[in-house]
Amino acid sequence: MASPLSANRFLDCLRDEGLTVVQVGDWREHNRNHVGPWGPVHGVMIHHTASRGSAATVQLCRNGYAGLPGPLCHGVITKDGRVHLVGHGRTNHAGSGDDDVLRAVIAEKALPPDNEQNTDGNRHFYGFECENLGDGEDPWPEVQLEAVERAAAAICRQHGWTHRSVIGHLEWQPGKVDPRGFTMTSMRARIAERLK
Ligand SMILES: [Zn+2]
Repeated sequence: MASPLSANRFLDCLRDEGLTVVQVGDWREHNRNHVGPWGPVHGVMIHHTASRGSAATVQLCRNGYAGLPGPLCHGVITKDGRVHLVGHGRTNHAGSGDDDVLRAVIAEKALPPDNEQNTDGNRHFYGFECENLGDGEDPWPEVQLEAVERAAAAICRQHGWTHRSVIGHLEWQPGKVDPRGFTMTSMRARIAERLK
């Protein structure tokens, strides 16, 4: 059971992990807390945006779109490795996923297949959206992958979590394919190495 990090602590831990952080508008107050709960938090979820262009991607994740109001995550990791903070609190990134997966994340055990949509993920996961088309061809620059590693590790460090508390959207919600272009197994190995 973990209470969400304060906005200041969230910002500080990312900087302490060596990341360049961009604060976008009123990110500290921008959230979906009026439509549902935020916390307890149990993990970090990684996504790709399926969009092109850093500025447009950050705006999309801040504002959302018709049918899915923003913020769509907490931080947007652009191809240059910067982390743009767009929201703090409940955000629209995880949707409904599998309660068996959530139990495994809490226990930090190997993940079962995600074959149910019965649990509110926006309540329990920090979310990072990564600028990538997700077509399997758009490259993931090393500086961006390293930022994913650092951002996830920073939050795990704050909560005393291991790499097993970091999952991909595709491991949470049936039908999702993100992130595409690297494996979550490889990313978790990087995070584990960083947390040693
Ligand atoms: Zn996603």
